[in-house]
Amino acid sequence: MRYLYWSGGFDSTFVLLWYITRGIPIQPVYILNCDNRRNVSEELRVMDKIGASLKLPPKILVNARNLVLDQDIIDECRCWHSKGVFHKKMNQFGYMAQMARELGSKVLTGFTGDSFAYMNKIFGPSYSGVFSILKNPTIHLTKEEMYNIAKKEGYAHILRETISCWRPIRGQPCGECEMCMERLPM
Ligand SMILES: [Zn+2]
Repeated sequence: MRYLYWSGGFDSTFVLLWYITRGIPIQPVYILNCDNRRNVSEELRVMDKIGASLKLPPKILVNARNLVLDQDIIDECRCWHSKGVFHKKMNQFGYMAQMARELGSKVLTGFTGDSFAYMNKIFGPSYSGVFSILKNPTIHLTKEEMYNIAKKEGYAHILRETISCWRPIRGQPCGECEMCMERLPM
């Protein structure tokens, strides 16, 4: 069994399906309030629908406000912030690293260098800081490459049910945010 930070978005859903297809069970984890995203209810709705169709175990829901961050995690987040890599002193990475520690396990993510250019700075081959508890199998893949794998392996239709918008309007993608701009036509 592997833990996965699953958001119901394209990237993390790809990771979910890739592992399940290989017979490796996934325990989804979702952190509330780890940033100021305004799409939580849509993400939860999409995950409930996909999760039920795949018979996934119930996701572990964590509230970031209840996580007590270790000092080394705070320090490293501040360090990336001071280098201009993180926009904020504390962001989702800090909470994800902390929660992984509490689970006592590496946790998969759907992060890609495609979505966040700075990911490659952090998760380079020589990196050994606090975020190395996150395992990023898609870091070197583009969305197009993921979609092509999904088509070959027969789960592209599930990727089409995902939501990747930061500011949905009445449950529909806004068509204007950064995430909508990156969304593949499927
Ligand atoms: Zn949008």
